[in-house]
Amino acid sequence: MKTKLTTILLALTATLVLAHEGVELGPNKGRILEFSTNETMHGEVAAKDGKLLIAILDKDMKPVKIEAQSVTATAGSREKPVKLEVTKNESGFTVPAPKEGEWLILQYKDSASAKPITARLHYNEKKCAPCGSPEWRCACGKKK
Ligand SMILES: [Zn+2]
Repeated sequence: MKTKLTTILLALTATLVLAHEGVELGPNKGRILEFSTNETMHGEVAAKDGKLLIAILDKDMKPVKIEAQSVTATAGSREKPVKLEVTKNESGFTVPAPKEGEWLILQYKDSASAKPITARLHYNEKKCAPCGSPEWRCACGKKK
């Protein structure tokens, strides 16, 4: 993500909205989640047919081959967490979309013996007016 174009786009965005909340979008316009403790692994969450596709990207936002990695997903409420069924294939992981307003909690593991990394996403489907994307994958930052 260190191309000149990205820098220019970021600069433009920064002048339009002053407070950038740190939401980052990936090459598939999905929401980037941190899947490591040092920015070397990312998850990109994109929506398709009522499901969420989670691709694994390296530090340069390039897709990583899916081998030993695993993801577990939990949604629901704090009182009543619901485990979501995760399907794994060669391009990533698929989970059913949580209900509007729920938190999606993902636990990512590089391999069976790796320490799990927890990433959270507030699944707010309300459309953001400036960009037309649902809030959960809107990179506009705070707008109020
Ligand atoms: Zn937006």
